[in-house]
Amino acid sequence: MFTIQGKTGDWEVVVGLETHIEVLSNSKLFSGASADYNPTVAPNTQVSMVDVAMPGMLPVLNEYCVDQAIKFGLGINAEISHVSRFARKQYFYPDLPQGYQISQPAEEPPVVGRGWIEIIGDDGNPKKILIERAHLEQDAGKLKHDVHPTKSFADYNRTGVALLEIVTFLDTKNPENNSYITSPDEAEKYLRQIREIARALGVSHANMEEGSMRADVNVSVRPAGAKYFNERCEIKNMVSFKFIKAAIEYEAKRQIEILENGGTIDRCTMRYHPDEGITTVMRSKEDALDYRYFPDPDLLPLIITDEQIERVRKTMPELPATTRARYIEKLGLAEYDAARLTETVDISHWFDAAVNGKPERAKGVANWMISELFAHPENYDITNEKSGIVDGMRIITPTDLAELVDMVAAHDINGKQAKEIFIKMLDGESGAPRAIADKFGMKQITDTGAIEKIIDEVIAANGPQVEQYKSGKTGLLGFFVGNVMKKSGGSANPAVVNEILKKKLG
Ligand code: MN
Repeated sequence: MFTIQGKTGDWEVVVGLETHIEVLSNSKLFSGASADYNPTVAPNTQVSMVDVAMPGMLPVLNEYCVDQAIKFGLGINAEISHVSRFARKQYFYPDLPQGYQISQPAEEPPVVGRGWIEIIGDDGNPKKILIERAHLEQDAGKLKHDVHPTKSFADYNRTGVALLEIVTFLDTKNPENNSYITSPDEAEKYLRQIREIARALGVSHANMEEGSMRADVNVSVRPAGAKYFNERCEIKNMVSFKFIKAAIEYEAKRQIEILENGGTIDRCTMRYHPDEGITTVMRSKEDALDYRYFPDPDLLPLIITDEQIERVRKTMPELPATTRARYIEKLGLAEYDAARLTETVDISHWFDAAVNGKPERAKGVANWMISELFAHPENYDITNEKSGIVDGMRIITPTDLAELVDMVAAHDINGKQAKEIFIKMLDGESGAPRAIADKFGMKQITDTGAIEKIIDEVIAANGPQVEQYKSGKTGLLGFFVGNVMKKSGGSANPAVVNEILKKKLG
């Protein structure tokens, strides 16, 4: 358990997260303008009349964004609301030309209701983190203060792009129910899990560096073991795992000091300063904004039918956590291997394509991918299963690797030869592994007669070592195996060599 030592004893931290992820869609949440606002796009070229609130322009809900929200909701085991509403959250800021953000207020049902995800808690056991809601809302534009010495500019390309805001749940009536985040590490694990699910489902790139994932972090502290919640402060707009962890710890220590000196925590909004590693008050409770939410009169209630939910459910790929469990339970992979092979959906697809319904291949394919293929990312294209030579380098396909693994398993070639074939493929040799083996005369000798002949020669040529072996130095077996393998040009089956040698040396 994560605790911070204070003057009066140990303290625990309680963390709530409001995570915004940018929803992947061709167009914005309420307009047909392109939602691709990447920095190479010229400013204010993807802005519709709706986005800049021209009088009389009406928002039209993008149904695909709703499907994306449903998909994410199903991915976090959540209830999907059959009826939810959009409301206007009023505030003035130059990056928001409407003068309000269309969102789904906390007082009303959001499109995605109560759900949960699982992380590995600080105690090493799986821990459920409850999620209160996820709702759709509009993103704001971007202000640029570094273009001109005295002027600021506004780029509205991002204005109106769909965001999904995911809010963790703190069950204030049941503080015993330990289904919330209680350390900086757990906060990071939760966010990584959200990112993994969003990416696997194609709902968001969820990339903090790009700004397609941002988090508001709520922090409160309580004496270790206490079963109540203290007042919290919210750190706004965090875009780095490292800073989030540092900010939680700093903010917790700040609150502990106040409480230990007899003070009380006032709810406030904080800003984190990464350079100094400190949080400072941005807004106190007194100057909290009153957003004067009211239902958007231009938008009908969002109605979602069971049919729509089922249609979306059918498009859902397997989630990484499920894939990992399948690799471990059904294919017998080690936990580490399963984790490596589910780092991205493309990697697990590539692996599945190589295994191709033959579980006996799984361990071989996993070993080759992790120890060899991952070392040569230029030689496989996980998004493309077609073979080809690119810039003189061969793209190794799932079929290539499967064939190589099968050849070793069938003792057609030994491991050393397989490695040689692999290197030849890396060097641009064309043709399937079996064809390469034929071309270079690589074939494992499993014929015991032929192997026996070589063994007899090796034994005859190494009389003194034979004597030593017989007098108890059985460690010399490797010496004999090595010599036989060498004499066979590396093509003898090592298992057969071992077996016959042991018999002959007695
Ligand atoms: Mn929000």
